[in-house]
Amino acid sequence: MAKKSGSLSINSENIFPIIKKWLYSDHDIFVREVVSNACDAVTKLRKLALIGEFEEPDDYKYRIDVIASPKDKTLTFIDNGIGMTADEVNEYINQIAFSGATDFLEKYKDKATDDQIIGHFGLGFYSTFMVADKVTINSLSYKDGAEPVFWECDGGTDYTMSEGDRTEHGTEITLYLNEDCYEFANEYRVKEVLEKYCSFMPEEIFFTNADEAKEEKTDVVDSTASEVKEKKDEKTEDNSETSDNKDTTTSNDKDASKNETDSEASESSEDSNSDEDEKESEDEAAEKPINDTHPLWTKHPNDCTDEEYKEFYRKVFLDFKEPLFWIHLNMDYPFNLKGILYFPKLNTEYDTLEGKIKLYNNQVFIADNIKEVIPEFLLLLKGVIDCPDLPLNVSRSALQNDGFVKKISDYITKKVADKLSGMCKTDRENYEKYWDDLSPFIKFGCLKDDKFEDKMKDYILYRNIDGKYLTLNEYLEAGKEKYENTVFYTDNEQTQSQYINMFREQGIDAVVLDHNIDNPFITHQEQKHEGVHFARIDSDITNTFKEEVSEEELKETTDKLSEIFKKALDNDKLTVKVEKLKNASISSMITLPEETRRMQDMMKIYSMGGMDPNLFGGSESLTLVLNANNQLVQYILDNPEGDKTGMVCEQLYDLALLAHAPLEPEAMTKFVARSNEILSLITK
Ligand code: ADP
Repeated sequence: MAKKSGSLSINSENIFPIIKKWLYSDHDIFVREVVSNACDAVTKLRKLALIGEFEEPDDYKYRIDVIASPKDKTLTFIDNGIGMTADEVNEYINQIAFSGATDFLEKYKDKATDDQIIGHFGLGFYSTFMVADKVTINSLSYKDGAEPVFWECDGGTDYTMSEGDRTEHGTEITLYLNEDCYEFANEYRVKEVLEKYCSFMPEEIFFTNADEAKEEKTDVVDSTASEVKEKKDEKTEDNSETSDNKDTTTSNDKDASKNETDSEASESSEDSNSDEDEKESEDEAAEKPINDTHPLWTKHPNDCTDEEYKEFYRKVFLDFKEPLFWIHLNMDYPFNLKGILYFPKLNTEYDTLEGKIKLYNNQVFIADNIKEVIPEFLLLLKGVIDCPDLPLNVSRSALQNDGFVKKISDYITKKVADKLSGMCKTDRENYEKYWDDLSPFIKFGCLKDDKFEDKMKDYILYRNIDGKYLTLNEYLEAGKEKYENTVFYTDNEQTQSQYINMFREQGIDAVVLDHNIDNPFITHQEQKHEGVHFARIDSDITNTFKEEVSEEELKETTDKLSEIFKKALDNDKLTVKVEKLKNASISSMITLPEETRRMQDMMKIYSMGGMDPNLFGGSESLTLVLNANNQLVQYILDNPEGDKTGMVCEQLYDLALLAHAPLEPEAMTKFVARSNEILSLITK
């Protein structure tokens, strides 16, 4: 072929600077582009062979090699796929790729974007110029009589083409890395990038460190020589052993000798087998592809075992806690989608929910956690989704408004809801067992996605104070005489234990809602279930806990206690309420209306700094409830002027506060000092 040179047909001189800048944070992406092109080239030839368009030698091994040379600062990609003729290089590399680039420039000229999906803009090959000063292509087409072609471009707008020297069909692309990107010739760095993008590509990919391979080669020559010598020596020994045996055989019983020879024969054949095995396994170890060409998600769910699912989970997510369970998505119509979603086990209630959904396009890794495709709440899960039909050659913002993408997202949501509700219906025992781990995820899903909520609303469980799991209906039904349409809950079983005990004594149930997500979830539930009201167990004292006494009857006591407490606590605004609680051991409690508390909580969350907390009712909205049946309260009533009365009042107030919320540091210091003082009184 006559040497040819020319100018790349592009409209803009700016393409290379832009490509170099493009995906700055992600410029390892060129590996994905080049290796997936190589995979395509191999797959195409495989298909041609299948339909008889190409005749491949028996046992032909299709492969892709990635070869790094740290010394030469090069990275080479070789495939034995279809290859390209000079015309094809001209068409696909010199022209087509740049029409993609022109589109790209057209759309993105105004913004430097880090859009991860842009890799699929059809200028994949040119992404190599993000890391290389010079790129060469050496290709031989599979077509009969094709001539090898060599292409070279140094990152400017000029290229040269001449005759290549490839003798096997396929393509070899060499990147001469630029100074800033030498890292990509480093074995560990390349392997890391290959693992990120190519772990599940559909053709076998092998990695070689060219420099090490060269050194090994020299070693091999040496060791082969000595091995040959050793083998020779062994052989002589073997021979002598055999002849020894023969000798023994002849002088001994014939049958026995036959047996011996048989077993020997089989032993020796085993020996040679295991030699072969060893050799094979050595070869295999040396020739292990870096990727798994048939990842689990591509198999039919019926063909996958639990162990395989768990193993895949460990391997991909490096999470050694077993997942709770998983959903294998497998759909061909109306779109093609496969994947596995795992429900991870949470370590503690404080575990941050951090999932990871890896998105693939025909086994080529695209990106993690693309929320345009995967509903946000599902990002709390761990999993892989492979969707070849995704229109990835558009930007992420376009994905957001794409009806097709919405359908995919809806499908995934539906599958997850079906699995969960199905489990609740048919395997409630396990569903309950998993509930604490599932609950934040399901609740988040309900808050975020109406359709998901519609499907899940009857399968949301509440753990009650006795550790039993109930649905909302089951809870309300069980207590309909005592607390119609009210759900009592505790958000802290430790500090609210006094209230929990009171509830237990009176046979009133309460549920535990102690996760961050429960606050917004409660409000959301109230909107969804008209008439149902959630109340923390210390928000009010319900009639069940108190004797029936009229307010009139208690008025005098209330006034008296109120005055004593206001004075003792030096707080004029204190609200005191007196009740005759059935449980006489309870002295004092703090109640705070549910709505006020929620307002305060919300304020804390959004930390509306600078706002007067009293706007939403500060400590003023607290009510100190005193139990007239309690002996300490009685003591105060009987000794309004007593020298210890003030101390008892303060202590009762602090105790009540403690059950409600942690004390402020100063109050806590005083409380401890006072407690010590009280104890010392006993020992006096
Ligand atoms: P895209 O892969 O999106 O089409 P690229 O710029 O990566 O864009 O590649 C342009 C074209 O060059 C490919 O479509 C393919 O026809 C050809 N090509 C690239 N790499 C190879 C290869 N290793 N073997 C054969 N053809 C290739």
